[in-house]
Amino acid sequence: MTESITVLGATGSIGVNTLEVIAQHPERYSVFALTGNRQLKKLAGQCAEHNARYAVVNDAASADQLTTMVAERRIATEVLYGEQALKEVAADTQVDIVMAAIVGAAGLVPTLSAIKADKKVLLANKEALVMAGLIFMQSLRRSKARLLPIDSEHNAIFQCLPSSYMNGDQSGVSKLILSASGGPFRSWSMQQMDSATPEQACAHPNWRMGSKISVDSASMMNKGLELIEARWLFDTPVNRIEMIVHPQSIIHSLVQYIDGSVIAQLGNPDMRTPIAHGLAWPERIDSGVRELDLCEIAGLSFEQPDRKRFPCIDLAYHAASAGGDAPTVLNAANEVAVDAFLNRRIGFTQIAEVVEETLSQFSFSEPDSLQAVQYSDQKARTVSDSLIGQFKG
Ligand code: NDP
Repeated sequence: MTESITVLGATGSIGVNTLEVIAQHPERYSVFALTGNRQLKKLAGQCAEHNARYAVVNDAASADQLTTMVAERRIATEVLYGEQALKEVAADTQVDIVMAAIVGAAGLVPTLSAIKADKKVLLANKEALVMAGLIFMQSLRRSKARLLPIDSEHNAIFQCLPSSYMNGDQSGVSKLILSASGGPFRSWSMQQMDSATPEQACAHPNWRMGSKISVDSASMMNKGLELIEARWLFDTPVNRIEMIVHPQSIIHSLVQYIDGSVIAQLGNPDMRTPIAHGLAWPERIDSGVRELDLCEIAGLSFEQPDRKRFPCIDLAYHAASAGGDAPTVLNAANEVAVDAFLNRRIGFTQIAEVVEETLSQFSFSEPDSLQAVQYSDQKARTVSDSLIGQFKG
């Protein structure tokens, strides 16, 4: 019997890598549902190649177009649309594994649906956990779901921690250390970053990723989001989570133990490794990733992150320490600002300004329901939007 998989965000970078790993192991995995948003032709092709039972898109017009494409290809995929359909394909009784790889806040509801339905959930969509940390983890604890981190840093830490840590015994570990590549602007001055273009921000030196996470890597907000992600995934206070810039992206993260040992996970920078790890866990399968050749790499280097040039790091530490809905506001403001930058409405360094100014307009409280999280998220988006309008003027 194969394990049946729903890939939320199949047309994205993580989705494509996931399907590549799955395709190498037809005896282990089959595709149940694939979801996408704008790339309908790509989604139709994926449905044909992987024999998907269902495809889900966001609206009726996209569903009509996809239905025509599916009919032309003479495949049996049933096309659905809307948030309810996303929830259903994430929770269907026939599904064993859900890859949560929709980008941004849009991924929260279907990911929670998979958790409530006790699935093995592979979490790439860090924004879902950042925006709704407490209720996300409460849902997880109430369920029989198994959450496995796909973000390469968190997957690395998960591999380096003793299993007792995840069960609440944190003795022996002194800190978690997140690696950061430093992104494409690692050695740029503030002045250079002021006039950086979306193309330059998306040209990551080591990873090929979607545009939103690429911009987050360039601003280092990605590391800030990962700090909050790690705080929840590993139930670790933020003052025991550090960051180190390691430009080669070979060491994906490290765990420091109280006896002086440091355990790190290494590998070529290729998301198929954490994806394969999550899919097969606790077993191991071939991911198709080239073996690491340390002699070819020859040198690994490290430096402190520059918090002055990359103010998003401190904004994230601030939001994480403030708690409550501060990370929800941080995440929403960042999503709005990154979108505005990608659409050339604001400059690169204004992303941090929008986030800082939005945070300053809120007094934070703990959201006790999904609706409360969504309310804070929407409110922060409205504030950020209006700030961006003022910047332009
Ligand atoms: P992409 O932008 O490449 O893909 C995003 C996916 O989400 C696409 O399938 C897209 O559909 C879909 N999508 C976008 N908006 C919506 C929406 N409103 N409703 C439903 N679906 C939507 O992103 P990545 O694959 O790079 O990243 C996905 C997630 O994984 C992010 O949260 C990112 O932070 C995380 N991640 C990514 C890594 C990477 O290496 N790429 C590494 C670690 C984490 P379509 O393309 O059809 O419009």
